[in-house]
Amino acid sequence: MFNIKYCECCGEPFWEDEGSFYCEECSEAISEEKRDNPDFLLDYLKKYCRGKDNAEFSREIEKRFLISGRDIRRIVKSLREQGEPICSDCHHGYYYANNRDEINRTLRGLNEHVNGVSSTIADLRNAELKKTSGTPIIRKIIIVVSPEDDPEDELVMELI
Ligand SMILES: [Zn+2]
Repeated sequence: MFNIKYCECCGEPFWEDEGSFYCEECSEAISEEKRDNPDFLLDYLKKYCRGKDNAEFSREIEKRFLISGRDIRRIVKSLREQGEPICSDCHHGYYYANNRDEINRTLRGLNEHVNGVSSTIADLRNAELKKTSGTPIIRKIIIVVSPEDDPEDELVMELI
């Protein structure tokens, strides 16, 4: 679905493609500028995404800055390593913390995520143990294709 939209950079009308914010020329210029200034995301979050209520979802940031979700996660990780209070949760998206409560909220979400990963690790460990504990895991199933015909028509399937 194409709509006419106005470029958020130069203000010129353009045919919107998949929710983009900028015309093609500005998109290219922004991509270049972004490469020269890796702190663009910090500047943006600080200025426009202060606090949970101003959070922005990854997919919006992806469109705005023409970068991938993976790039955003990589940049957010490095900003946090520098001590920047970048918060995130799946209901609101990314934002720059206004207070300690917002940081704690993000920490709770991260803890839940870690617990989920831990339980996946435990499940996979157990799965490995089952496989090496001598329990037979290959069973033979005989399927009779046509009983009135030659018994050699029986198919033997091995299931793992
Ligand atoms: Zn433009």
